[in-house]
Amino acid sequence: MSEPIKTDVLIIGAGPCGLFAVFELGLLDMKAHLVDILDKIGGQCAELYPEKPIYDIPAVPYITGQGLCEALLTQIKPFGATFHLQEMVQTIEKIGDPQFRVTTDRGQVFEAKIIVVAAGGGSFQPKRPPIPGIEAYEGTSVFYAVRQMEAFRGKRILIVGGGDSALDWTLNLAPIASHLTLLHRRGEFRAAPDSVNKMMALVGEGKIDLVLGQVSELRGEGGRIAQAVVKRNDGSHFEIACDALLPFFGLTMKLGPVAEWGMAMKDGEYILVDTATFESSVPGIFAIGDINWYPGKLKLILSGFHEAALMAQKAHRYVYPDKRLVFQYTTSSTSLQKKLGVA
Ligand SMILES: Cc1cc2nc3c(=O)[nH]c(=O)nc-3n(C[C@H](O)[C@H](O)[C@H](O)COP(=O)(O)OP(=O)(O)OC[C@H]3O[C@@H](n4cnc5c(N)ncnc54)[C@H](O)[C@@H]3O)c2cc1C
Repeated sequence: MSEPIKTDVLIIGAGPCGLFAVFELGLLDMKAHLVDILDKIGGQCAELYPEKPIYDIPAVPYITGQGLCEALLTQIKPFGATFHLQEMVQTIEKIGDPQFRVTTDRGQVFEAKIIVVAAGGGSFQPKRPPIPGIEAYEGTSVFYAVRQMEAFRGKRILIVGGGDSALDWTLNLAPIASHLTLLHRRGEFRAAPDSVNKMMALVGEGKIDLVLGQVSELRGEGGRIAQAVVKRNDGSHFEIACDALLPFFGLTMKLGPVAEWGMAMKDGEYILVDTATFESSVPGIFAIGDINWYPGKLKLILSGFHEAALMAQKAHRYVYPDKRLVFQYTTSSTSLQKKLGVA
C-alpha cells in the first residue's frame, strides 16, 4: 500500500462529465484527482467514438469525440487536476463526516473530503477470449494491458488480435521479446494500415511470426503458461511455446464495483441522486453523467455538464463549511478570471 494521497475531491471517471467537474470545482477552489481504468482521458468519447462528430454540445455546432476531450482538457488546465490512469477504484470507506478512504486495484489510496462518481456506464474492461481455464493464468502469464514494457523483456510472447492494440504492442514489444508471435484469426487487420505494413515488414525480416488461427488451450502450471495450443483455420492444431499471452479483443463496459459502494441504486445499475445537488444517498458522495438516475434523466453530455455545476455548489459546503459561497459570473468576476489565469 502506498502513502495516501490527500485531496479535496476524488473524481471516479475521466469521461467528459468528470473532466467538466474539474472546471466547476476549480472555480470554487476545490482541487481534484481523477482515476480512470482506461489508459486515456475522455471516457466513451475517446474510447468508443473519437472521430465521430457530436452535434449537440451547446454553442459548439460540430466537434469530434476526441476534439471535445481536448477542448475540455484546455478548459480545465488552470486547475491542475492530477490524473491516475489504468487504475480502477475498488473500495470506498467512510472515515469522517464526510471524509473517505478510496483504494484502487493498484493499491493506491486516496483520502478525499468528497467523492464525485462520474463512472459513465461503468468501467471499461478487456474482453476475455473464450479459452478454457484462462482465468488461472491471468495476472501471471496472461495480460490484457501492458503496464510496464520491461516486464516482457526476454520473454516469449504470444499476442492475439488484429486491432490497433494488438498491432501497436507487436511493434513495441518485438525489439525486447526473445520471440514474438502475432496470432489473428484471419488475414485482414482492423488496425491502422501503417501499423499493419510495419508488422508485415518485421515478418518479412524474420523478426516475428504471424500465424492465422485461434488459441484453443493453454498448458502450464502454477499460473505460468508453457505452451498455447493453436487451432489453425483448416482445423489442424500445433503448439507455441510461450511465457506470456497478450489477448487484445477490445473492451466492454461493466458496472464494476460501483454497486458495492453503499449508495441507493436504481435497478442495480444507476446511482439515485437528488436533482438539486446531484448527491447520492451517502452524504459527500455525488454522482454525475451517465451513471446517475433521476426522473427525466437523459444520457447526454450536456446533462452531465449541468449536473457538475450544481454538484460543485453543494460540494463547496462540505469542503469549506465556514465559507459563504457567492454566486459569480466568469464574464464579470475578477476573482474567477484570476483563477482561470485570464485577469
Ligand atoms: C457511439 C456513441 C455516440 C454518442 N453520441 C453522443 C452525442 O452525440 N451527444 C451526447 O450528448 N452524447 C453522446 N453519447 C453519449 C456520451 O458519450 C455519454 O453521455 C458520455 O460519455 C457520458 O459521460 P460520463 O463522463 O458520464 O461517462 P463516460 O464517458 O462513460 O466515462 C466514464 C469513465 O469512468 C471510468 N470508470 C468507471 N468506473 C470506474 C472505476 N471503478 N474506476 C476507474 N474508472 C472508472 C470508465 O473507464 C470511463 O472512462 C454517445 C455515446 C456513444 C457510445
